[in-house]
Amino acid sequence: MFCPFCVAQETKVIDSRLVAEGHQVRRRRECTQCHERFTTFEVAELVMPRVVKRDGSREPFNEDKLRAGLQRALEKRPVDTEKVEHCISKLKSTLRATGEREISSEFLGNLIMDALKDLDKVAYVRFASVYRSFEDIREFGEEIARLGD
Ligand SMILES: [Zn+2]
Repeated sequence: MFCPFCVAQETKVIDSRLVAEGHQVRRRRECTQCHERFTTFEVAELVMPRVVKRDGSREPFNEDKLRAGLQRALEKRPVDTEKVEHCISKLKSTLRATGEREISSEFLGNLIMDALKDLDKVAYVRFASVYRSFEDIREFGEEIARLGD
């Protein structure tokens, strides 16, 4: 790629390493003209199944939306970003591994809840309360009680 600083066409890779559990390659590059350094990330472009919503409409899987949902549930929780990113890549591999072209939003929601259960119990309850919109307080209490086991 062109240098983002001076738009020279030649840049060289000065460091390259695997990140995100080997799902990304991080490269440090240096422009041969202006010698500025910058970082690029390389990820595989793989087809994700589309999400079928409750009303039957389809939408492409949206990683940013997933990340935003997790962050909302994990707000002010002591969970480091690296763990959240790991969780996102695990969810994505699970989705790809289904081999399905479409998955229901319910299936996706359950996957996210399972992942949050391992990550942080409070975040799990937060997400589940929004996602499942528990019928009443008792049902919500039962879910929390189950977490205690
Ligand atoms: Zn340059």
